[in-house]
Amino acid sequence: MPRESYRERALVIRTYDLGEADRIIVFLTQHRGLVRGVAKGVRRARSRFGSRLQPFVELDVQFYVGRELESVTAADTVGFYGSGIIDNITCYTAASAVLEAAERLSLAHDEHDDRLYPLVVDTLKQLQHAPEPKLRLDTFLLQAMTVAGWAPSLYYCAQCQAPGPHHAFHPRTGGAVCGTCRPPKAADVNPEVLHAMWLLQHDRWAEAITLITAQEQGASARESSESVTHEIPCATAIHRLTKAHWQWHTERKLASLMVLDQT
Ligand SMILES: [Zn+2]
Repeated sequence: MPRESYRERALVIRTYDLGEADRIIVFLTQHRGLVRGVAKGVRRARSRFGSRLQPFVELDVQFYVGRELESVTAADTVGFYGSGIIDNITCYTAASAVLEAAERLSLAHDEHDDRLYPLVVDTLKQLQHAPEPKLRLDTFLLQAMTVAGWAPSLYYCAQCQAPGPHHAFHPRTGGAVCGTCRPPKAADVNPEVLHAMWLLQHDRWAEAITLITAQEQGASARESSESVTHEIPCATAIHRLTKAHWQWHTERKLASLMVLDQT
């Protein structure tokens, strides 16, 4: 009887060597979430198929259903997004964090959400040419949290729904909090930072960049003209709040994110 099979668009998330020449691959697929497959013999020097099985390559894969792992015998390249990513340490680390975050979300949800895969592919494409890799990663995390169903509230108070702008943020409560609802440990936030995050969450990149640039220029002008204490740059504040919200909800740190914060 022929083995049951299916084709899927897929990205390689990570690989493990198995035995002398085989490789186990964790794929993020378009419609089935994470799929683990084994590719036989692909570590031999002459395997052209094996050289395609690496992160940042989008593939059209034929999977044969197995008891524990699917078998992968062939895959066609759909897109290679590594150029521009693998030769820049910040872009590379941001792109690795995108894959790691996508894997984490897929593991946490039994029901696969079809919106995740195109979001990952689009982000990798953007990162190839992105002058702002950290902001691209934060944008991905904000949008991925929306897909996951626990996006931070950025305009309305997460507790009482009062409209903003608000001046405090508390991941445990759900994001922005008003003056009445703010818990003692909420972070003080410039409302413009929350506004910029809202724009990124809603895929309004150009407007967000304009706002962030204006904020950072305004901050440096204020610091040079008066004896104002140092303000946290807008993009840094966005990164901190996005990361705090992600970590509160996933209860885990992203390893690549920790590397990224050192670059
Ligand atoms: Zn409130």
